[in-house]
This record gives sequence, C-alpha cells and structure tokens, in this order.
Amino acid sequence: MARKPIIAGNWKMNMTNEQAKVLIEGLKPLVKDAKKTEVVICVPYTDIATAVSLCAGSNIKVGAENVAWAEKGAFTGEISADMLLELGTEYVIIGHSERRQYFGETDSSVNARLKTAVAKGLKPIVCVGETLEQREKNRTKSVIRKQVTLGLADLSEEDILNTVIAYEPVWAIGTGKTATSEQAEETIKFIRGVIAKMYTRKIANKVRIQYGGSMNPKNVKELMAMPNIDGGLIGGASLKAEDFSLVVNFDK
Ligand code: PEP
Repeated sequence: MARKPIIAGNWKMNMTNEQAKVLIEGLKPLVKDAKKTEVVICVPYTDIATAVSLCAGSNIKVGAENVAWAEKGAFTGEISADMLLELGTEYVIIGHSERRQYFGETDSSVNARLKTAVAKGLKPIVCVGETLEQREKNRTKSVIRKQVTLGLADLSEEDILNTVIAYEPVWAIGTGKTATSEQAEETIKFIRGVIAKMYTRKIANKVRIQYGGSMNPKNVKELMAMPNIDGGLIGGASLKAEDFSLVVNFDK
C-alpha cells in the first residue's frame, strides 16, 4: 500500500487568534483540491479551538505542538491529551528540536509523551534530527539511531503505523539551509532501516517519514521526488497561505 504524503505546518509560537483566522481562511480555498496529500496545521494551544472550528468540513486537519505525558494533575503549564482531544485535535508534534534545545526534552520525555498520545488516540509526529556539529563529526546515524530507538521505544505495531516521523536536521530548521534531497533521502532511508530492525521490514515500509528543515515552494518538488520522503514538516513557509499551499500542492 502506498504511503499517503503528509504536509504539516508547524506554526511554532506565531499567530494570535485573529491572525490565525486570516491565515486559515486564506488557506482553505488554496488547498481544497489536494486529494492525494494529507494536510495538517499544528498550531499554538490558544489557536486550536479556532482552527478546529474554521477547518471543520475542509480537508485541513489540526494538530498541537506538544502534549503532556501525564493524564492530569499538578503539571503547571502542560496541556493533556484529553484537553486536546476535546477540542478536536487530531495530530500532535512531539520532540521538536526546539523543545529539545530550549525546554530540556529528552528521548525519554519524548517517549513518555508519545506513549500517552498514542494511548489516547492522538496521531503523533515525532521529530528527530542531528545538529551541525554532530553531522560534521560523522555522528548523524548514531544520533538518529538513538533518538529513534529510545524515543519510539515500546510502541505496538498498530501504534507505530499511526506514528509519523519527521526527520529534521537541526541545522536546516529556520536557517534557509535545506538538506539536499540526497542527504534527506539517505537519512530517511536509514531511519526506515532502524524501524525495520525494531519491527519488521513490512511495517517499516508502511511508516510515513517526513523531511523538515526550510522546505518551501522552491525545493518541495525535488525533495518529494525521493522514494523514502513521505511529506514535510513546514515551519516558516506554513505562516503564509500562498507559500504553504504551494508546498501542499507540490504534485500539481
Ligand atoms: C520546523 O519548525 O519543523 C521547521 C522545519 O521549520 P522551517 O521550515 O522554518 O525550517
């Protein structure tokens, strides 16, 4: 079975509610004909209710940018899976490099959040990726292997099939420096191999793996032409309706 491409926006800490309304209303007509690609926008918690209500009946799905590992209780500042689900959230980003870099996320906290997300029925987008220093020291594969084996540990076959992995080289995020399509393909193929070792080759061939890192209307076609790249996690280019729609409509 072919893997359906998934293009997901990551708004990060951008867009007030009023700005979110304008962006979504602009985006809806531009992506409405994207039948073969799944379209997701991952938005700040404060925009979720607005986004779900505006995207109802459209082909745009809504995701959050993180989720707590605990079900509820004394975790000031965290948002639970139940809270997200009640608002109609479908996807959730887990382990973004900015969370790892600025907020102390580790493979173990990523794994805890992931287990809660899948147990509750949220569809996770789990981010992995090496820093420039790690790449220059030839450590890309060992870093990624560790992030995948620890971050995605102990998921059932059903849960891994519902999990999207985003390969995001940290040096390419928000820098305008995209990995070449060969670099992205090589690492994503490697990730698929790691999944095959953890599960089976058949399962690995069904798991969707995105590329993320300065993906934009200019480079999306070339990246998406690679056999192992199943979509993109899009930061900067998801903040403008026109740019994001051009990425979504890469096959048009
Ligand atoms: C991201 O935030 O996941 C990302 C890939 O950002 P950008 O597209 O801006 O590099």
